[in-house]
Amino acid sequence: MSDPKLDLNNLNREEYERWLDKVQLPSPAKRQTECWHWLGSTRGGRGKGGQYGQFWRGKPDYAHRYSFEIHYGPIPDNYEVDHVCKNRLCCNPWHLRILPRRSNRRRVSHRKEVKWGGGTTKN
Ligand SMILES: [Zn+2]
Repeated sequence: MSDPKLDLNNLNREEYERWLDKVQLPSPAKRQTECWHWLGSTRGGRGKGGQYGQFWRGKPDYAHRYSFEIHYGPIPDNYEVDHVCKNRLCCNPWHLRILPRRSNRRRVSHRKEVKWGGGTTKN
């Protein structure tokens, strides 16, 4: 996957700054390798992997999904964002990748959430 890059033309600055405010960024030298810990509220994922960062942006969404979208673009339908680092609270775009939902399904309730991040509603 190519390097993450913010699409400044399509970025909602207010939203982005609100998100960034809750992310613990590593020092620049370690920005790519270390996890970006989410400091905001969390939800879901009661299994052994722990919870996901929650980010409200007019609709319930996940902090790592938001990170993926602003750095790589919309998440295609039926794909979900996977943490390569296995840290669910991580928002580091270098640690995120998308997988077809079927191969990474953890909970049946995720089915509902598929619609949230769909690529069709965002300009
Ligand atoms: Zn990470």
